[in-house]
Amino acid sequence: MARLLGLLVVVSTMLVGCGKDEQPTASVGGTAAQPSEVIHWKLITTWPKNLPALGIAPENLAKRVDVMSNGRLKIKVYGAGELVPAFGVFDAVAQGTAQMGHGASYYWRGKIPVAAVFSTVPFGLTAQEMNGWLLFGGGMELWRELYAPFGLVPMVSGNTGVQMAGWFNKEVNSLADIKGLKMRIPGLGGEVFQRAGGVAVAMPASEMFTALQTGAIDATEWVGPYNDLALGLYTVAKYYYYPGWHEPGPALEAIVNQAAWDALTPDLKAIVETASRAINDEMLAEFTARNNAALKTLVEEHGVVLKRLPDDVLAEFKRLSNEVVDELATESEIAGRIVASYRAFQKDVTHYHAISEQAYINAR
Ligand code: CA
Repeated sequence: MARLLGLLVVVSTMLVGCGKDEQPTASVGGTAAQPSEVIHWKLITTWPKNLPALGIAPENLAKRVDVMSNGRLKIKVYGAGELVPAFGVFDAVAQGTAQMGHGASYYWRGKIPVAAVFSTVPFGLTAQEMNGWLLFGGGMELWRELYAPFGLVPMVSGNTGVQMAGWFNKEVNSLADIKGLKMRIPGLGGEVFQRAGGVAVAMPASEMFTALQTGAIDATEWVGPYNDLALGLYTVAKYYYYPGWHEPGPALEAIVNQAAWDALTPDLKAIVETASRAINDEMLAEFTARNNAALKTLVEEHGVVLKRLPDDVLAEFKRLSNEVVDELATESEIAGRIVASYRAFQKDVTHYHAISEQAYINAR
């Protein structure tokens, strides 16, 4: 309990909250005021502060929670590196240094390999399908079970839709060109890239710009036109490849420290979950609305060369992706259940989407 109290900064505010339902208290000047508790949380992120969409999402989450809770839960957002480094978010929230975090579960692959499945699987589910699996296909229950031993409660909190394959300073004309190529590419996609002969590097956004500029890496993936334009990646790389085979619909996560979560009243819990769900919808809508215009700007104003990855590269990446996921399933009992659930969902949804989403997009 002492630890719990230490995790939360609970401040009794003075003379705030003059709502008509509150019991009047004796006060000077006859104004009625009921001291109320305000909970203060820190939210740390893996994103650069205020990066469009990804970095703004947790800011919007905090604003919504503030309004919906009538100021009872105040969340202060910190960009990557402000309190802890980008890749320190999981541990810092688990330890209670911050009550909440926003990032992507594949960043924790070194700690929990199967966690990557809850962000994205190469050649796996699209954003729409990922939401289906998480919210109605048993995915969320498995995710919560996986994070419970770390004292973390995960929520789905954003999706970029299909990403771009990335920015390259060398042309990829065949599988041979992947050999020895140094690329910043996280998650299971990074593992696949490595097996295909490339050199996969994990680094946060803050480092990849310089790494590409100095030639320390030959390529990087980030998200898609809207975000990549904002980061200025076109100034340090020439070729922009598609499709984002490695991230077909990555879900972002909001994680909450279990003790901080347990201390919330049911209405505040519902508010945090609802705000997170709203951000999830909003982000995909924003990327969908803005990617096209950003791509136009990249190509027409900045001379970016748009290219498709060759078929032999995609075929080999797909073969290796299956191999990587097969191995992932054997790492633990829960990993086996997570992979089985994900694959069963993908099989079913692919069958239906062949005659719905896919058939329609091909027909229009
Ligand atoms: Ca990415």
